[in-house]
Amino acid sequence: MVLVFCEQREGRLKKVAFEALCVGYAIAEKRGGELAATILGSGIAGLAPEVVKFGVNKVITVDDPGLEFYTPDGYAGALEKLCREMQPHTVVLSATVMGKDLGATLAARLETAIIPDCTALEFDGAGNPIMTRPFYAGKAVTRVTAPSANPLVISMRPRAYGAQPENDKGAQIVASDARPDELRTKVAEIVKAVIKTVELTEADIIISGGRGMKGPENYAILEELASVVNAAVGASRAAVDAGWRDHQFQVGQTGKVVSPSLYIACGISGAIQHLVGMINSKTIVAINKDAEANIFKVADYGIVGDLFKIVPMLTEEFKKARGQGT
Ligand SMILES: Cc1cc2nc3c(=O)[nH]c(=O)nc-3n(C[C@H](O)[C@H](O)[C@H](O)COP(=O)(O)OP(=O)(O)OC[C@H]3O[C@@H](n4cnc5c(N)ncnc54)[C@H](O)[C@@H]3O)c2cc1C
Repeated sequence: MVLVFCEQREGRLKKVAFEALCVGYAIAEKRGGELAATILGSGIAGLAPEVVKFGVNKVITVDDPGLEFYTPDGYAGALEKLCREMQPHTVVLSATVMGKDLGATLAARLETAIIPDCTALEFDGAGNPIMTRPFYAGKAVTRVTAPSANPLVISMRPRAYGAQPENDKGAQIVASDARPDELRTKVAEIVKAVIKTVELTEADIIISGGRGMKGPENYAILEELASVVNAAVGASRAAVDAGWRDHQFQVGQTGKVVSPSLYIACGISGAIQHLVGMINSKTIVAINKDAEANIFKVADYGIVGDLFKIVPMLTEEFKKARGQGT
């Protein structure tokens, strides 16, 4: 059996949950066994029908007030219980902030192997997954397999694997009482930042600004373009360190790793620590006044020029193309 952890926040399944289900489906098809999905949280039982169309045989919900917010104890405790009960050969999670923490904690509790932050999936002749994952901050990639791990824990990088619904197998939906025994940490309060644009790791288009933006007030031109094309706005570390943008918007080695369909880098030089965070974007556009900037080496399209002239022009053109006028 393959057990897929379906991540939800505030009672809504995240897109990455469907990607993880597709990874789980492919593994179950090759290695054999059923595909089971689990959703943990409080008041989440109603989410189960949303995952059945992904070829799932069984959906297990663990609905408990102690699981309202993510805590390593709570979630790893519940997931460990499910694993001991169900004996999956593979556990699939998403390599999100939550999934990275949960996957490592679960693997340690089960004393088994984890292959984290994977970007591609293949199989050997026996149907064992061979996972591709970047290492040395993305300077190299490796292909890893762990056929003797039982279970093998895998976390898949968001947007690295498409989410296509499979056939609806009329999954059995089960409410489990695999509640965690001990909660050593308790979330007292969550203070939310006001984010007007799309979440960075889930965005299909990201427009990032670096030191070339010259100041926090100038991000308004990126936000305007973002609102026209439904994009998220990211930043380089130089911009974050200068206090122009919050750290949650930083792309790169010490920020978020993203792989949108389109990444537009504005006034970003292309330091390796930034590139590792966005190099897997499907199409990269760079706008920089320095024709020698490193970012042009990875860009599919480069515009040499002043971003303060080019970005507003792009916004106008996208508005026209989308029939929004000026
Ligand atoms: C351990 C470590 C971890 C790091 N992690 C990260 C990370 O996660 N993410 C990250 O981004 N960096 C990271 N860095 C920092 C990284 O090395 C670079 O310093 C940083 O990415 C530079 O940001 P930048 O490209 O915005 O600034 P700069 O390198 O200063 O580049 C600014 C660019 O803007 C261009 N420009 C200026 N004005 C204009 C204009 N009007 N129009 C068009 N172009 C213009 C310039 O030509 C220049 O190319 C890390 C560094 C270390 C040591």
